Amino acid sequence: MTSDFSELRLDGVTRRFAAGKGVQSFTALNALTMTVKRGEFIALLGPSGCGKSTALNCLAGLLPLTDGGIWLDDTRIDVLPPEKRGFGMVFQNYALFPHMSVARNVAFGLAMRGVPAAESAQRVKRALDLVQLNSQAHKLPGQLSGGQQQRVAIARAIVIEPPLVLMDEPLSNLDAKLRLEMRAEIRRIHRELGRSTIYVTHDQDEALSLADRVVVMKDGVAQQIAEPQRIYAEPANLDVARFMGYRNLVELDVRSESGASVQLAGSGLALNARAMQPLASGKAMLAIRPEEFDVVSSPVDNSFAARVLNVEYCGHDNIVDVEVAGGLKLIVRTTARLRVGDPVMLAIAPDKALAYSVDAAAGMVP
Ligand code: ATP
Repeated sequence: MTSDFSELRLDGVTRRFAAGKGVQSFTALNALTMTVKRGEFIALLGPSGCGKSTALNCLAGLLPLTDGGIWLDDTRIDVLPPEKRGFGMVFQNYALFPHMSVARNVAFGLAMRGVPAAESAQRVKRALDLVQLNSQAHKLPGQLSGGQQQRVAIARAIVIEPPLVLMDEPLSNLDAKLRLEMRAEIRRIHRELGRSTIYVTHDQDEALSLADRVVVMKDGVAQQIAEPQRIYAEPANLDVARFMGYRNLVELDVRSESGASVQLAGSGLALNARAMQPLASGKAMLAIRPEEFDVVSSPVDNSFAARVLNVEYCGHDNIVDVEVAGGLKLIVRTTARLRVGDPVMLAIAPDKALAYSVDAAAGMVP
């Protein structure tokens, strides 16, 4: 059984599914390379089918690798069966034994490892304390709420004191309020345990709020591995930008470049932006989050005129569709009170207007 570690290393981890009847071979995970430090919380984030669960299952030992390797410090572990890796796993559907009490569910992994009864009872109590469920120890899973069942599943995963906890969309069966509560719980439990967690989700809020570092995946490839703030403010490419809510994507001409600062023009806009990639072709894709625009009363640096087409009230702010002189439509989120037909002056800070290579975006923009 593996024990505590200082570094988990994935080197070119690849999983291909073989061709079957009428099905071509398929690379679900392509050369994932990264290290995870002890105590780190890593989120694997991406749309359905991007290879998140495949990565988790490769780590757990439920899927053999086609290529690459996984090391815990100096020990190569991708050759070990799941039980020898000894990682804790938490699944979306809890996977509790319905006929066993909460305490017996949590004790199961310890019984399998031959831990003596007295020690097992102590460890179960500690794990249930950590998830704040000791008062429910005698109940059956069916007598608990979804959130409580998921906490039992977490207790069961951590009671074996694993060096690494793997979680596959553990909150997706919970309602919105409970999901928020459990998110905070998971972060607290992770902190108190001091071990590493790898957490699969398609929910960007969840990934950004929980993780120390986020791995954004698409088509089996890690697009960016970085701290949440970095992923949010500086998406490495257009795929990541789109996934992180940069909803305004406009192809413009590059007028001039000076280091990372570029002047873009076209479609009635002339803006300074920040080049996130080399812009070789003379064209660039401008990416802006709707909430980054400022409504200003008169022209300022990097501002432009537009007209309000539609206003959707969202409580704390509004989603406003605007049209600029050239007919280009943009989406703006603002607390400013605007009405359909109003002229409006919008400004964007140059470091919030990101410019990406058009070549990399080929075929991506709707
Ligand atoms: P979701 O969020 O929907 O669970 P995911 O990002 O976790 O998606 P995976 O379950 O890792 O995605 O699947 C990645 C890709 O690999 C998908 O296109 C899937 O269809 C494919 N895939 C998964 N298992 C197999 C298999 N046994 N045989 C062939 N293809 C598979």
